[in-house]
Amino acid sequence: MSKVFAMTGGATGIGAALKETLRARGDQVIVVDLKDADIDADLSTEEGRTKAISGIKQLAPQGLDGFVACAGLPPVAQPLSLITRVNYFGATVLIEALVDLVAMKKGAIVVVSSNSTTLPGLNEEHIETLLSGDEDKACALVETLDGHNAYAGSKNALTRWMRRNAPTFMEKGARMNAVAPGMTITPMTNRVLADENYGPAMRDFSKTIPYGEMASPDMIADSMLFLLDPASRFVCGSVLFVDGGQDALLRADAF
Ligand code: NAD
Repeated sequence: MSKVFAMTGGATGIGAALKETLRARGDQVIVVDLKDADIDADLSTEEGRTKAISGIKQLAPQGLDGFVACAGLPPVAQPLSLITRVNYFGATVLIEALVDLVAMKKGAIVVVSSNSTTLPGLNEEHIETLLSGDEDKACALVETLDGHNAYAGSKNALTRWMRRNAPTFMEKGARMNAVAPGMTITPMTNRVLADENYGPAMRDFSKTIPYGEMASPDMIADSMLFLLDPASRFVCGSVLFVDGGQDALLRADAF
């Protein structure tokens, strides 16, 4: 039987790969993105988030089999507070508003983290401020930091938020997990590789992937399909690294 999913960031990259696979097998996918979506909305704004939430509720009154928070901005985005607004609050605010819709169908929620969350040098005060839910304070603080902190910090906080909330959501009937992709060939990655500050370091980082090359978007989408499927019904609060072995290489003993 065909299922109903909603997702953010489905216009390009990893989200587009997931959307195309789900639609190809006959599922309905409600996409929220800046443009070329079922609901065009800017998740950096309160107005855009409200539009996305009410649009999804209207299009899926019987509930959701799954919700995926995939929209994100890279470390080179400016101002840095835009990363905070989209990557962290654009995900958590929507999930909080939609968890009951997912619970109605005993569905699954997937947040998109990153294997960069385990890299050193993250500002703990920034992460704690994000987790406190104070958007204005987090946006002011992030402007005193760098792109790595803005990006990896937002994903670290999002992952911790996922783990803090997964047990309660599970009790309601909505299962939540995170996928932590490594470097994947998408418009976002191309933008970072082209950046004169971040490009060289990213290129060097990509050479350490044990798999030998960066992922294609469908490699990440395939693991998200697993987290959305009842095949993973006992998987809850987990962070699935899909990074060709890079996190294991860098942190074998941390799990
Ligand atoms: P992408 O740029 O192709 O896709 C990101 C999507 O988010 C785009 O469709 C974009 O329009 C949308 N988006 C951006 N700002 C938005 C806003 N304000 N409102 C609504 N939508 C907005 O990049 P991608 O690489 O496919 O990234 C998808 C997710 O995967 C992101 O959360 C990213 O952080 C994460 N990720 C990517 C990589 C990688 O190497 N590409 C690695 C780890 C994690």
